Amino acid sequence: MALIREKDSKRLHLKSKLMGESLVSKSFIKSLEYTEPFRLLPEVNVLKIGGQSITDIGAKAIIPIINEIVENKNQHKMIISTGGGTRSRHVYAIAMELGMPTGIIATLGQSVSEQNALMISTLLSPYGGIKVGHDDIPKLAGYFAQGCIPVIHGMPPYGYWEHPPKEGRIPPNRTDVGAYLLAEVVGAKQCIFIKDVDGLYTDNPKVDPDAEFIPRIGAGELLEKDFDDLVIERPVLDSLLYSNSVTEIQIINGLKSGNITRALNGEHVGTIIYKDK
Ligand code: ADP
Ligand code: MG
Repeated sequence: MALIREKDSKRLHLKSKLMGESLVSKSFIKSLEYTEPFRLLPEVNVLKIGGQSITDIGAKAIIPIINEIVENKNQHKMIISTGGGTRSRHVYAIAMELGMPTGIIATLGQSVSEQNALMISTLLSPYGGIKVGHDDIPKLAGYFAQGCIPVIHGMPPYGYWEHPPKEGRIPPNRTDVGAYLLAEVVGAKQCIFIKDVDGLYTDNPKVDPDAEFIPRIGAGELLEKDFDDLVIERPVLDSLLYSNSVTEIQIINGLKSGNITRALNGEHVGTIIYKDK
């Protein structure tokens, strides 16, 4: 590649389209030509097991889900991502009382989702379950070649660098975001969120019995509705709008036997949220 000396500043450049650019200019970024994103694992399904919604129920909820994952092992490749749940909320409450900044609270949340990953991977161990960390993404294909079911903690690795939220200090990017961004970076086939409700409603169905079920909605449309409470972390919707590979997600009720299998088979059993803008 040619080296070019700038006339005025004498800066030495490697000749490329991005030469000398700040990479901030909106018009420049828009003018770039992008190829289709490479999909590392296009046959893989990312399944997020909710922390509060599933793991915290205990054996009654978890064991049937483990069994259903194992039943599907030979038909579908799966990465299991784990949420945090009640223990995260406990540590967040104490940390907030102590005035901890968002980056510390996010770092605390990471270790809780890791506790759940350790339990889920242990239960899956006899069937190829293997606990992996964020640095193991490039090894995933190797694990699948050996028939493994990788289990990863859902909290994204922003940690101390977590973005301060618009309001308060709770980390805005938690385990739903981590599961979705993992699916997007590996170019997964599907991203399925296993929770304890049938999907998205107009309001929290546990609080408002009149809340209406929404089977399918665009991420942009949903953001515009600006519901007070959601079944999924709001930044997942922002990321969906900017997605390259995984342009829809499905939220399903994992407490209903057979739903995981049907969702893995591509059936619509919960709420699908898609990229609409
Ligand atoms: P997870 O542990 O999987 O992260 P959460 O408990 O954080 O799950 O979120 C799922 C819960 O969100 C549901 O159990 C439900 O009570 C609640 N919820 C809040 N708003 C809504 C909504 N609009 N539609 C459906 N569920 C909602
Ligand atoms: Mg949650």
